[in-house]
Amino acid sequence: MWRDWLREQIDEIDRRGLYRRRRIVEGPQGGEVIVDGRRLVNFCSNDYLGLANHPSVVRAFRESAERYGVGAGAAHLVCGHGRAHHALEEELAEFIGRERALLFSTGYMANLGVISALVGRGEEVFEDRLNHASLLDAARLSDARLRRYPHADSAALKRELNASAGKRCLIATDGVFSMDGDLAPLPALAALAKQSGAWLMVDDAHGLGTIGDGGRGSLARFGLTQDDVPVLVGTLGKAFGTFGAFVAGSADLIEYLIQRSRTYIFTTALPPAVAEATRASLHLAREESWRREKVNALVSRFRTGAAQIGLRLMASDTPIQPVVVGDNETAVRASEVLLSAGFLVAAIRPPTVPVGTARLRVTFTAEHTEAQVDRLLEALTRLLPGISAGDRSEQAMTAGMSAFSAGVSG
Ligand SMILES: *Cc1c(COP(=O)(O)O)cnc(C)c1O
Repeated sequence: MWRDWLREQIDEIDRRGLYRRRRIVEGPQGGEVIVDGRRLVNFCSNDYLGLANHPSVVRAFRESAERYGVGAGAAHLVCGHGRAHHALEEELAEFIGRERALLFSTGYMANLGVISALVGRGEEVFEDRLNHASLLDAARLSDARLRRYPHADSAALKRELNASAGKRCLIATDGVFSMDGDLAPLPALAALAKQSGAWLMVDDAHGLGTIGDGGRGSLARFGLTQDDVPVLVGTLGKAFGTFGAFVAGSADLIEYLIQRSRTYIFTTALPPAVAEATRASLHLAREESWRREKVNALVSRFRTGAAQIGLRLMASDTPIQPVVVGDNETAVRASEVLLSAGFLVAAIRPPTVPVGTARLRVTFTAEHTEAQVDRLLEALTRLLPGISAGDRSEQAMTAGMSAFSAGVSG
């Protein structure tokens, strides 16, 4: 019975064009990666600053492993909280301009642990519809009532807040939306939070390191402070090139989370070498602003080139530059065609994105060259008839599909 059920589920996933496959990557991350023995230009990594394989980050990791060993041995509250973790927390707090920071093992766990510690039954969490899955799951785990407002629609949020029962409310949003690349309307959200007495939490997984003054993320972009956004979550596996996450805020927020956040308390601390490697990458992210400038220049080059060939992009000025295709099958086929042309570009389908908005999620890093961007644009030009990006009417999609098939076979 179980065996049949599993097989039926998998077949159904496949029928709906949602089957996911893993590719085996050999060697390190970079502008190019080796996949199944082939060297491909990598346009789907979140290693935006190109730090995942930076020699000083690798050296910090190796030296730390020699000094501290590999495993942390226990949770932070038992005997796993080491000198390296503590130093990283202090440096992160200082970088982001907040009283304190607290390390979590992953961004997913940080979101689960923060939201479920801050709200519970009878309280409400307001979330953007396009928030990362971990924020949505966190609200579910908390037992608070989850209310999702239309993407970036602060007017709709205002109506919902007005209608809320007046309990403790939390507004949670991505800073930079992970699959769209656009920014949340943070000043409007912060103003609404203040008016209604709600707390605002921003998950800036894709903004930290990449945007804002000194790479301080979407809050810096808008000039918002700890007072405007009391809860800030950052991840370390993206622009910082390592692994893990942190929450930053007031000393009391952090002290409370240490006492109450279950995904902080009941899990093994990160390997100390990961913390030391992150200290090195944080240093590079702060000191080498050319990395941010380079990614931004590549993004501009891509957007200018896309406009010239008539490829419609989303309203994003971050390293995330999705090309919306519409249906799952077209997205997967476009990704396969790009693969055969030597480009690794992920096809992103539901439930990661809403139904009917499957896309090629193109990302840029400081490791890319202008020539690689130009070659990607050439490859996209050949696919263009099939990926009528932005126009999601049924007619356009049908036309797009057949033109795409012609483009693929031709
Ligand atoms: C990637 C991501 C996470 C999860 O972070 P991990 O450290 O990979 O678990 C959380 N929120 C957002 C917005 C993300 O993009």
